[in-house]
Parts: sequence; structure tokens; C-alpha cells
Amino acid sequence: MSATGTQIPVARPLLGEWEIEAVRRVVQSGWITQGPEVAAFEAEFAAFVGAGHACAVSNCTTGLHLALKVVGVGPGDEVITVSHSFIATANAIRYCGAVPVFVDIEPEGFNIDPGLVAAAITPKTKAILCVHQLGMPCDLARIVALGRDHGIPVVEDAACASGSEILWDGRWERIGKPHADIACFSFHPRKLLTTGDGGMLTTNVAEFDAKLRLWRQHGMGVSDVVRHGSPRVIFESYPELGYNYRMTDLQAAIGRVQLARLPGLISERRRLADLYRDGLSQIDGVTAPAEKPWTRSNWQSYCITLPERLDQASIMQTLLDRGISTRRGVMNAHREAAYGEQGSHRVSGDLSRSIAAQEKSIILPLFAQMTEAQLAFVVESLQQACSASSTPASRLLSAS
Ligand SMILES: *Cc1c(COP(=O)(O)O)cnc(C)c1O
Repeated sequence: MSATGTQIPVARPLLGEWEIEAVRRVVQSGWITQGPEVAAFEAEFAAFVGAGHACAVSNCTTGLHLALKVVGVGPGDEVITVSHSFIATANAIRYCGAVPVFVDIEPEGFNIDPGLVAAAITPKTKAILCVHQLGMPCDLARIVALGRDHGIPVVEDAACASGSEILWDGRWERIGKPHADIACFSFHPRKLLTTGDGGMLTTNVAEFDAKLRLWRQHGMGVSDVVRHGSPRVIFESYPELGYNYRMTDLQAAIGRVQLARLPGLISERRRLADLYRDGLSQIDGVTAPAEKPWTRSNWQSYCITLPERLDQASIMQTLLDRGISTRRGVMNAHREAAYGEQGSHRVSGDLSRSIAAQEKSIILPLFAQMTEAQLAFVVESLQQACSASSTPASRLLSAS
């Protein structure tokens, strides 16, 4: 069907005239670095998730670094998290000089198993970094309670979860309120809301927010915006070691447009995810991702699990041959060479479910512009790929 290249991409950002207009406005203003657009985007994002404070940063990875630092993670400390995540989750812990302690994921889905966290706690544990993997909220209620019981702060890696919701005290609330101490979002193009690169930190702790704002801008006591606007000469000072982790006004202007579109985008994705679930129920052995009664996913990625008998790479290749682009499921940091070094991490318990998830899951195409016909074609192709590769005879047939 497609020697000429991919026809159904795995994801596709929704960008258009509104974003172009927003950038034009900023370019014409003459102020393109962190300034009024960033401030407006922060206010709008905080209102969207219901947070007291939102601080924009250059990406979610730098945001995670600052979030861990602000809750007190430092050299020699331990942070409990999952290996089964994008590598940035664990890397951010190492940027603090701390050691990631990996626990396994739940039997169903791709999120941290809260039942394994308590056993991983030691006197060195300074934080729990939980991930809302692929946009599906993790069991925050249990993790936040655990953190509270042990006096350990909880940071949410909400990179994928812009617009996802969780049932909290009987009310649906957006991820990022935040329900733990700080939540970190990503605006990379693989996520739903994109600014090219970008991130946002939300918290209700004013002192945290003040520190984050200081550190993201070189630890500079007086910002360039304030100096620029001042009728009197001001000299800035640098009370603490800081970083350049800023978002630009060009990015923030795009983010504001994207944020306004997000609820519509998510309802479309939720409609498509329902169609996937119905279609996939026809395919023997394939497990569709499922929401718990207390979660509403933004379906940033739609990740299915294959039965033991099927080979991930060959199913993906069969789909690619038909013009359907897929990705393997989430990686595991501890299996990468960057984590081969002694002392780079610690494993608590075993990570067999994390490994199985990496080897047996496939992310199917899902994007707001996707048509029902495209979705049906993906389901039909997957069905054929699954039945073709289960017996050698039919594999020959399908190849002819
Ligand atoms: C994408 C992602 C990140 C990194 O986000 P960037 O904005 O690219 O730095 C971190 N954690 C998870 C779970 C992600 O999916």
C-alpha cells in the first residue's frame, strides 16, 4: 500500500493560522524572550488546571530538575520512580546528584504500582516522582497519602497529561492542580499541547514558585523585564546558583493558542479512543488500554498490549508496510547503557512487568485529524497482522 512512505503517522501536532498569527504578534512587538506572553500563558495555564501558580520553563526535563531541587532533593538522596518511562524522568533525578530507585508498574496499564512504593522507602528517600504515563493518571490518591504518611514530597511527571482528569474527593479535576506538591508538563510536539519545546510547573506553594522563578532565570534577583520597564537604573544580583531554563515569548504565544484548543482536541481524541476500543475488542488476545473509573485520559498515546505469542517488531513492520506508522511502547531507563554504570540507579523488587510492557506493547496512530476510515484501516490491518503472524502458513498467504 505504501512503498512511497508513511500515510498514517503515529501522531501529528495541530498547528495552523492562529499559531502563525500569535507568533507574528510577538515578532512585531519586538520582545521575543520570556516576557508578557509567558506571563499570560502561565496565568491561563494555572486557571486551566486550577493551580495557584504556574511557572513556564524551557522543557519538562529542566522543569523536573527544578521541581526535584525545590522539594529538597540533593546529592546522595534517593527518589522513587519508575524505570518504565521516557528516560528524562530518571535523568532529572541524576541531575540533582540523586539516585533513581525504580519500582515496577501495575499489572494493568503502564503506571507505577503504588503497592510497591512503601518497600522502596529508605532513610535516604527524599521524593517520590510519579508519572502519568501516556496521559493516563496514575494512582495519585494512594501515592499522595503514602508520601504524607512518610513525610516525603511527591512530584508529578505530568509531561503527557495536559488536560487529563482525575476523580478527587468526588469531583473531576485536571491533572496539575496539583494533587501532589508540584506537577511538571511538557509541550514537546509528541504531547497534546505543543510550543515546539517547552514546559510548565504548577504548584500551590508560593515559596516553591518563587524559587522556581529565580532558578529558571540564572538565579537573577531582578528580571530583565523589570529592569527594562524601570524608570530608574537597577543593578541585578545573583543570590543563588541558577540556570537558563526559560521559555520564550514566541513559544508562549503558540502555547496560549494551543491551550485554548485543548479541550476540543481532547474530546475528539476521546471519541477516537472509544472507536479503537470497540474495534480492538474483535481482535483475539490484544489488550486495549483502559481507564480506571477515577481517570479520564487525554489519550496522548494509545498503547495496546500484544499477547505473548505475537512479535512486536514484526507486527509493527506489517503495519508500516501498509503505510501505518506505530511506535513501540514506553522504554525502560535501566536497560539503557546510560544506566549501566554502578550507582546510577537502584532497583527495588523486580521490574518484570516494566520489561514485558516495553516488549509487548505498541502505540497506535491517534491524532485529532484522524478520520474514522483511517482508524478502521488501522484496526483491520492490525487484525490481519495478528492472525497472519500466529501461523506460518497464513504468513505466507498474506505475503503473496
Ligand atoms: C516527554 C516526556 C518528558 C520530557 O519532556 P521534554 O519537554 O521533552 O523535556 C518527561 N517525562 C515523560 C513521561 C515524557 O513523556
